[in-house]
Amino acid sequence: MTSPVMVIGSGPIGAVVARRLAEDGCPVTILEAGPPISDPPGHHVRNQDRFHRDPDSYFEAIASRLRYFDEAAPARGLPGASVSAAVGGQGVLWTNNCPRPALFERGELVAAGEWDHYLDVAQRYLGVAADTFAGSVRQQRISHRLRPLLVAAGREIREQPMAGHLVDPATIHYVATGDILAGTGVRIEHAAVRRVIVDRGRVSAVELDDGTTLDASAVVVAAGALDTPILLHRSGIRPQAMGKRLTYHPVLYSQLVLDRQLCGGADDVPPRLWIPPTPAAPWNTMILRDTNPVPPSPPDIDIPSDRLVEMQSFCPVDNHPENTMTIGDDGTVRFDVPLREADQVRMAAALADQNTLAGALGRFRSGLEPQWMALGFAHVMGTCRMGRSDDGTCVTDEFGRVWNTDNLYLATVGVIPNSLAVNPTLAGAALAIRSADRLLAQQNSY
Ligand SMILES: Cc1cc2nc3c(=O)[nH]c(=O)nc-3n(C[C@H](O)[C@H](O)[C@H](O)COP(=O)(O)OP(=O)(O)OC[C@H]3O[C@@H](n4cnc5c(N)ncnc54)[C@H](O)[C@@H]3O)c2cc1C
Repeated sequence: MTSPVMVIGSGPIGAVVARRLAEDGCPVTILEAGPPISDPPGHHVRNQDRFHRDPDSYFEAIASRLRYFDEAAPARGLPGASVSAAVGGQGVLWTNNCPRPALFERGELVAAGEWDHYLDVAQRYLGVAADTFAGSVRQQRISHRLRPLLVAAGREIREQPMAGHLVDPATIHYVATGDILAGTGVRIEHAAVRRVIVDRGRVSAVELDDGTTLDASAVVVAAGALDTPILLHRSGIRPQAMGKRLTYHPVLYSQLVLDRQLCGGADDVPPRLWIPPTPAAPWNTMILRDTNPVPPSPPDIDIPSDRLVEMQSFCPVDNHPENTMTIGDDGTVRFDVPLREADQVRMAAALADQNTLAGALGRFRSGLEPQWMALGFAHVMGTCRMGRSDDGTCVTDEFGRVWNTDNLYLATVGVIPNSLAVNPTLAGAALAIRSADRLLAQQNSY
């Protein structure tokens, strides 16, 4: 019997790869080191009633699920960089925003038509819709108020596509691995992979932490942007490009008290709006009712939830060749990603923008004026980049196959080669499904 393809990691990107392979009849098993942390396992933690009633309690409730590399590191050492080990990965914790990267963000590796095809497939697998919140009165009024201001600057505002749907006006169902794999028959085995066994460029098996080995016809490492290079390093696969030119999103966060005229009453559907990046304003902004990582200050402690919205702006950081993630032989990880002048100019412009937009909608809630989350918290990308040739700047070919291997693929936002402003999971999933198609074509040709 043919050995299965082993997908290492059960987050949303591992799940879309497994689904794609299973749909083609390819035997596939997901190996996941983390425990189940939701009920049912692999479903989104946020689908619990208590978080619908009290969204601001969500961030604190999941804080213990984030394992930081070094919270005491200086800013350039990315004190916010963290991973989550769980059935479903960070995809049982995420906010499910799935914008498509703008044309100017997509780089040159994948043709525009192919990008569109795979983004469509990824949207379908992740259950992404862009009209879920159309009935939100706040959404309509905020858009109406901001649109003239934005259009005058060549920008737009529209609903933020999201992986999920409304169960009723007050209840969002957040999509996670459990939804992506429903009906596929794919199993998630509890197993921590110590190393991938590669001999003369061919992967034959993986070795687990308990010393057992599992045969594999191919391996797809989908262990997240940080654990993927760590596992490669442990497996003796250490291309010089690994951990180089990485990028991430400094996140500017604030919470607003909306003008009363913008509100739609206590039963209003929460808004979820998106101001896409443009070449002139190349950061990604969302106005939504999400969750509040910082406590408010007096006199703004008791504000009715329907008057509150958060504003979040993600600023891309350039893929500078000297941005590094270094993995030591003892497994310790160190980041060095200083913000350069261009990055800082972009961040200052995003801050000015939030001030302008907030002024048009109401005022900041006391204690929740714009602030940068710990750097590295959001969306580390480019730790194991894709590229067209093995020129020392990339770890995989343009289909995610590790250079000089036959059957070892990477599926993670870590392969995204260029700096992106939008939340990256959808783009990472699209590239991963494309890699799965290449793996299937390769397997079918044997
Ligand atoms: C609070 C929060 C909100 C977010 N919101 C958004 C958002 O709105 N939009 C967006 O695009 N992104 C968002 N993200 C980021 C998003 O969650 C990640 O991009 C996404 O989960 C990455 O998916 P993945 O499958 O590559 O990896 P992960 O979800 O990180 O899963 C990787 C899995 O691999 C497992 N693993 C690692 N090493 C091994 C090993 N050796 N053996 C076995 N298993 C292993 C880990 O235990 C983990 O479960 C958010 C993240 C957080 C924390």
